[in-house]
Amino acid sequence: MRPLKILAFFAHPDDETMFLGGTLTYLAAQGAEVHYLCATRGEGGEMGDPPICERAELGLVREKELGCAIKALGGTSLAFLGFKDPEVGPEGELYPFSKDLAPVVRELSEFLDKIRPDVVLTHGPGGEYGHPGHIQAHQAVIEALGKQEYPPRVVYSPSWLSRETGEFTPAPGMLVDISPWVTKKIAAVTCHKSQHGLFLRNGAARAGRPVELVEMIRNQEALGRILPEGELAGDPLEEILRPIALALPATA
Ligand SMILES: [Zn+2]
Repeated sequence: MRPLKILAFFAHPDDETMFLGGTLTYLAAQGAEVHYLCATRGEGGEMGDPPICERAELGLVREKELGCAIKALGGTSLAFLGFKDPEVGPEGELYPFSKDLAPVVRELSEFLDKIRPDVVLTHGPGGEYGHPGHIQAHQAVIEALGKQEYPPRVVYSPSWLSRETGEFTPAPGMLVDISPWVTKKIAAVTCHKSQHGLFLRNGAARAGRPVELVEMIRNQEALGRILPEGELAGDPLEEILRPIALALPATA
């Protein structure tokens, strides 16, 4: 049987690790081919706290950091679309990486034609915490798939747990136990050195106290199915993840 072919398409280096690093490690360990595609090199993000490079070098630095992370996660290949991540605004404003969706759809379609994945993992419709770049990547996947001759069987996104509502969005089709792969996820997080200051500030804001990187990494990840909607017999991702699936949280 040929290995399951997975495309992990995200907007910025580190999204793959922070959202689904444990799941992606597990999938590779099961023999799946995991191809990574990143829309940008994260050129507009932080240079580190304190900075580890100049703004002009950040894209190259983060490209290397992503290569390091994917090695830790056991990925098969890494490619980039040609978009530049816009710089975060003075008040922390976040932006999509392309003015128009059409060129993103075009570049992504070409890549999908080449790889022909069985499964696509990408950002959710709400961009997890609402990042416009994540939302744009999601929209590009939905549009591109409408035109594919060999569309993937399923599309999943990370399911984001809202602190306000206590609910997962999109609803988790699956909650998985990644504890055996947490060390790999931490190794991948360690690779994203330029972002450590940001991770630690976010973690501290959430916890209300200073935190270490390792305590920010949980033993569970959640995924929600985007396509197709409704019941699906023989969902290839559900089948491969079944051994590490946990009971879903009870809904109110
Ligand atoms: Zn991102």
